[in-house]
Amino acid sequence: MLKFFFVITKNIEEQSVQYIKGVGPQLAKVLNKVGIFSLKDLFYYFPRAYEDRRFVKKIKDLTFGQKEMVSGTVEKNFLIRTRRYRTIVKTVLQDDSGQITLLWFNQPYLATVLKKGQKLLVIGKAQYNRASREIQLIPQEYEIFAEQKFNLGIGRVVPKYFLTEGISPKKMRQILFTAFEKFSQNIFDFLPANLRNFYQLPVLIWALRQIHFPENLANYKKARQRLVFEEFFTLQLVLMIQKMLRQKEKGFSLAVPPELAQEFKSSLPFALTADQEKVLGEIFDDLKSAFPMKRLLQGDVGSGKTVVAVAAILAAVRNQCQAAIMAPTEILANQHFQTISKFLKPFKIKPVLLTAGLVAKEKEKNLKKIKNGQAAVVIGTHALIQEKVEFKALRLVIIDEQHRFGVGQRLALIAKGNNPDLLIMTATPIPRTLALTFYGDLDSSVILQLPPGRILVKTFFAPETDRKKVYDFVKKKILEGERAFVVFPLVAESEKVDLAAATQAYESLKKGIFKDLEIGLIHGRLAPAEKEKVMKKFHQGKIKVLVATTVIEVGIDVPEATIMVIEHAERFGLAVLHQLRGRVGRGSKQAFCILIGRPETEESRARLKAIVSLTDGFKIAEVDLKLRGPGEVMGLRQSGFPEFKIADPVNDLKILNAARAAAEKMVRFDFNLEKPENNLLKEKIISSFGNIWEAPGVTN
Ligand code: ADP
Ligand code: MG
Repeated sequence: MLKFFFVITKNIEEQSVQYIKGVGPQLAKVLNKVGIFSLKDLFYYFPRAYEDRRFVKKIKDLTFGQKEMVSGTVEKNFLIRTRRYRTIVKTVLQDDSGQITLLWFNQPYLATVLKKGQKLLVIGKAQYNRASREIQLIPQEYEIFAEQKFNLGIGRVVPKYFLTEGISPKKMRQILFTAFEKFSQNIFDFLPANLRNFYQLPVLIWALRQIHFPENLANYKKARQRLVFEEFFTLQLVLMIQKMLRQKEKGFSLAVPPELAQEFKSSLPFALTADQEKVLGEIFDDLKSAFPMKRLLQGDVGSGKTVVAVAAILAAVRNQCQAAIMAPTEILANQHFQTISKFLKPFKIKPVLLTAGLVAKEKEKNLKKIKNGQAAVVIGTHALIQEKVEFKALRLVIIDEQHRFGVGQRLALIAKGNNPDLLIMTATPIPRTLALTFYGDLDSSVILQLPPGRILVKTFFAPETDRKKVYDFVKKKILEGERAFVVFPLVAESEKVDLAAATQAYESLKKGIFKDLEIGLIHGRLAPAEKEKVMKKFHQGKIKVLVATTVIEVGIDVPEATIMVIEHAERFGLAVLHQLRGRVGRGSKQAFCILIGRPETEESRARLKAIVSLTDGFKIAEVDLKLRGPGEVMGLRQSGFPEFKIADPVNDLKILNAARAAAEKMVRFDFNLEKPENNLLKEKIISSFGNIWEAPGVTN
């Protein structure tokens, strides 16, 4: 019996929208454009907003210049031809308070569609025509009363959709309504009844119907809750199942003798912090285990993640394995290459660099070494995932600043090895809530503590009128022997204009206040070799002030730099501001971060306030999340994270927690979703995520 229903459900849901009454091949194509192919797609195409059409205004109460809604009876209706074959249909509409003239431009058919005596609802902009002394309205939408048995657009809360040319909101509502009428009986709930009862969730078809055509606010809320729950629940379930499957997967077990940690630590010029020690232990345990490591290492800028990564590299090399580190920018890769080479020197391990900026001969040589295994440690950029790069025995993959890479790039590097251990590092903390939501299948390590002796960076905001004061201060510090960054924003609109702005500012600083000082400029358009040269000079102190666009955002380690001036600070996101500030205060001297700007929106003021008052990257990330919403936070969107259709990880936190608890229980009791009551759920998971039991790793 169950099997029978199961088949029907699947067929109906997957059925093409073309077979809904009123949708032909042509309209189906239009729907395809917004991603609606099947009946299921249609039901899950949630409204972007709602319009309350329960109350209309009296004609005499209309406000001119504003979008208004009125209803009345058609008194007159006639067509006027104007010059150049244009038409206007004029309709006089009457309610018990007065009359209004509707002006329909270039819709001549309405002259016959609308008839005297008909009752209409219209929405549009109201205006007063002085010349004709008429109250007029240009309709954006209209509905004829009693044209259909249910007036979907009248007297109720009406859904609004993101639509495209070729389909009107009215048509969309009709299609949905017809689909509900026809197929409601055949849509079964994939959430098992006991789970639904436990969390007091309404049944699926009811929720879908109420989300499109809410009868009242309470129903809407209940419906939304259900749909948010199922969205969180399925994703959490998939992540948890994948995590469990991974633990059954065969990886490579490295030999990590207890002496190794000791040997490594005694090679360092400093003692590891307690957090570093702890994380090192976690990573070594992972390496020893036969399951492939999949670990996310979060730690604020300068917290010392790189050192820990080096320990993992050492362990891999001691096992005759290759390790690769991928960094998002050439500068960062170069810097990693230098620092890691230094750390590995006592062990006589020489890393190899692979970036686009290498000269051809060098690159060829390095590629060969990577292939024959002579290069045990490879450090590079995206160049690492190019097709021609072949490893002999890649067993450890480290990805730095992971939010800069897409999931696909990460997978491409992993694919160069044979089930390698994976360490993902990020200095852009992911709020706990999001980490659990998106990285549910990764193990997590955190370095909270900064190395000892660090002095917190002092952060100030300065309005543009105080710019001179700021630069006087910078100059004073430079004359005392310190170094400064001056950063200009790159705004996507026009790189050229931005660059011009930065260049111009550089010129005026160079000719003006800093005219006796060594000052350099670095930006994304410079050739790699040129960038390298400028960076080197700044490192050596031959340049004291480095004017930059955001290329310095990640990774630059110049301990002597103590001042960070950020121009147009209101244009930067919180995460970037925090990253930029992390470029200073790496030495033992007091460092300063000065934000110059003119915040004009509530949000930009809140951002600047947060960066001035907060130092903890995790707290900043939480604020960022609240201000911007999860989709935008830290480039999550670029990183190919699943986007939610209806759920909101910030505001629906309670539902998220419930869904996670439910998923945990489900995995504990029926990991394979074999029980009859979980049949439909399994089917749902497979249709949305693929067969994760057979092909683990689809989401990460
Ligand atoms: P991250 O990669 O987390 O931004 P790094 O690994 O680059 O941080 O470390 C920042 C700086 O602090 C480096 O110069 C590094 O050598 C130094 N460092 C790391 N750990 C310690 C420690 N335990 N004690 C002192 N200095 C440290
Ligand atoms: Mg780093």
